[in-house]
Amino acid sequence: MRLLSGASSHVGLVRRQNEDSFVVGGGIFAVCDGMGGARAGEVASEAACRALIRLPEAGAVDPKSLERAVHEANADIVAKSRQDRGLHGMGTTMTAAVVTPAGLAFVHVGDSRAYHLRDGAFTQVTDDHSLVAEMVRRGQLTPAQAAVHPHRSIITRALGTEDAVEPDVFEIPLNPGDRVLFCSDGLSGMVPQDQIGRLLGQGDDPQAIADSLVEAALENGGEDNVTVVVIVVASDDPPLEGPPGDATAAFGPVRRHPVAENGTGAKAGFGRGNMLSRFGSRRVLVVAGVVMALLVVALVVFAVFNSTVYFVGTSAGSVVLFRGMPVAPLGVEFYSSVEVSPTRYETLLPYQRTRVDAHELITKDEGIRFVRSLGSGQ
Ligand code: MG
Repeated sequence: MRLLSGASSHVGLVRRQNEDSFVVGGGIFAVCDGMGGARAGEVASEAACRALIRLPEAGAVDPKSLERAVHEANADIVAKSRQDRGLHGMGTTMTAAVVTPAGLAFVHVGDSRAYHLRDGAFTQVTDDHSLVAEMVRRGQLTPAQAAVHPHRSIITRALGTEDAVEPDVFEIPLNPGDRVLFCSDGLSGMVPQDQIGRLLGQGDDPQAIADSLVEAALENGGEDNVTVVVIVVASDDPPLEGPPGDATAAFGPVRRHPVAENGTGAKAGFGRGNMLSRFGSRRVLVVAGVVMALLVVALVVFAVFNSTVYFVGTSAGSVVLFRGMPVAPLGVEFYSSVEVSPTRYETLLPYQRTRVDAHELITKDEGIRFVRSLGSGQ
């Protein structure tokens, strides 16, 4: 069995950094979609991919060592996020596979996906570890509702966020002519599934297919980093030199040598999108948005309340009726004068001073009555 592969990654049209990473070739294929503030997401996804490329050369990689690599990657990311406060809370998805005699052995955590295309039958082979996918499985949402749900970005399992991770582990057999796609949610969230299936089936060059999938995500808005790895199982078995899909990772250094001798027909590479995220940041942004909205509501409520209360105090020795609260945090006064009495504070009787000094919150009418009563000798 000869596998031809291609890969492409793009920052997208909205994000400023690309936090996706991928591995292609050497008998190992993976897409990792990092999350976390600042640059933490890309640190997490890169650490996950590096754990994979440390695996032995293809042929010696078995599903068990792939699983071990996942647990090592998890421990590595957890340790990094504990050592560096700037990386705290980072994590990454991982959808990865190694070549086995019969097909591909997968490990999968998060909401990146793998799809399989055979004879026009296009199926998603991974289950999303996401809030909306779980709601669909429980019958609480339809797939169509999940696709547009405001919380569709929340994932329920990731590498690096807990001490222990439980990846899905499974194997799929491959036949000549089959195609396999690994992608981050920047593709699956932007391009309808039937269109993804159509594009995966078009032409025989896996790199051209990968490019066309990324292009489709960008045409539909490119709201997230988009990364794809495409495998085409050659339908014949000619000599391996110069296979059309001899793809190296589009970005980043090549980490492995061609491994045509074992029949994968692709160089291995490791890469990240061509510029600088994923939303790990998405959840951070949602939380930040909610906090901002609550702050704005609190400020509006305070401003309304502040405009309806009054108190009596002094300014430059005179008794003054103020509107607002008698507070001035950091020198910012939350009050303004409404009426200045001609009466000087030092001329007040003791009980009047006590009342002025109390800064008691009162109504406007009460305040005006009190201030005017001072001048009338009451
Ligand atoms: Mg993403």
